[in-house]
Amino acid sequence: MTNATESLVLRTTFTTRNFHGWGCLSVLPDEVARLGAKNVLIITDPFLAQSGLAQQIVQTLQQIGVSSVVNSDVVAEPPLAVAEQLVQFARQQNADLVIGLGGGSALDLAKLVAVLATQDGNVADYLNLTGLKILSSQGLAKIMIPTTAGTGSEVTNISVLSLASSKDVVVHDYLLADSVIVDPQLTVSVPARVTAATGIDALTHAIEAYVSVNATPISEGLSLQAIKLIARSLDKAVKNGNDRQARIDMSYGSYLAGLAFFNAGCAAVHALAYPLGGQFHIAHGESNAVLLYYVMGYIRSACAEKLKDIYQAMGFDVANLSAEEASKKCIIALKELVNTVSIPATLQDFNIPQDALDALSNDAIKQTRLLQRSPMLLSLQDIQAIYQSAFNGKGFI
Ligand code: NAD
Repeated sequence: MTNATESLVLRTTFTTRNFHGWGCLSVLPDEVARLGAKNVLIITDPFLAQSGLAQQIVQTLQQIGVSSVVNSDVVAEPPLAVAEQLVQFARQQNADLVIGLGGGSALDLAKLVAVLATQDGNVADYLNLTGLKILSSQGLAKIMIPTTAGTGSEVTNISVLSLASSKDVVVHDYLLADSVIVDPQLTVSVPARVTAATGIDALTHAIEAYVSVNATPISEGLSLQAIKLIARSLDKAVKNGNDRQARIDMSYGSYLAGLAFFNAGCAAVHALAYPLGGQFHIAHGESNAVLLYYVMGYIRSACAEKLKDIYQAMGFDVANLSAEEASKKCIIALKELVNTVSIPATLQDFNIPQDALDALSNDAIKQTRLLQRSPMLLSLQDIQAIYQSAFNGKGFI
């Protein structure tokens, strides 16, 4: 556990109202009414528009006298241009509340649209790495309803956007949802490959938050419980999407991991994953999954005690193991878990060529917001070595 000194003031931020449970989408009308909304904008992706869920929500809200408009222009791993278009769309509506319905892509856009609908400028003006403006008000009310178990976007103050060669974020507490509805039943239709990728994304959040230099005893509790739930149920949810208990564990694990990394931060796995998404359009969860074994193996010696805790949370007996032994076993167990859910294990498996590694490294080193939370600070040479090992499939254990 952390050695956070007693003199530190620890701050933890949670979303204010949070609902969990199989079928808890039923609270939505009450939440919309509580927030005093009359005109709702629902931001969702094409799958959820076609599945009928978005329309079902429109009809439910109609019954309480609330009108709604659905925009399903969400694109997975949303490019900046899509965010700009959605903001323009939202500014033409007379909405007083935005519902985000979908995976992280839909929720990130919904949060951003809700805030920017009421203020000036383009989305690009507010980007973390290059933007010059700071958000000045919280904009429209926001209700976030995740339909994947992965990103934890429902509880974070971040929206992630894809740029030409990497990713950047808009970060501000104004992006926080007023109400979060985590209904595991909504994830039953998620296909196996997306279940695997999003589940490893959530696990990566919990692990990176746990070893983060900003971890606190509060975030550590969230991380360890998330790791426990995800480790025991990811494989089951991938193999049988109708496994109710596995879907519940994954949804709650993803939510807890989201709270953990929102407060303690993600680090090097995400920093190296962002360029894979930006340059090669690899799904966010798969980008993290293919790098998890290599990055954590590389930084293992800087967080061996914590990896022992993680190994225990994954359900393994650590009673007679030193931190050195347990941390190595933990890294191998992570590799096996990624393998069990059939996510490719090397950059070559994703058709990334050797001559792309320099450009990937040059983009990853720019992710200082993420890299500064790593228990081992990584130089450009370290990052190049990690990408090379992920390319060859040869780890550091
Ligand atoms: P996603 O939202 O891109 O969705 C992936 C696919 O799953 C899409 O095709 C979507 O239509 C489908 N899908 C979603 N719900 C479904 C359901 N119930 N049934 C069937 N199909 C369904 O994937 P994601 O991994 O949830 O989100 C990824 C995005 O989130 C990336 O842009 C990533 O950078 C971002 N992200 C944000 C945060 C944050 O804190 N804001 C954290 C991590 C990742």
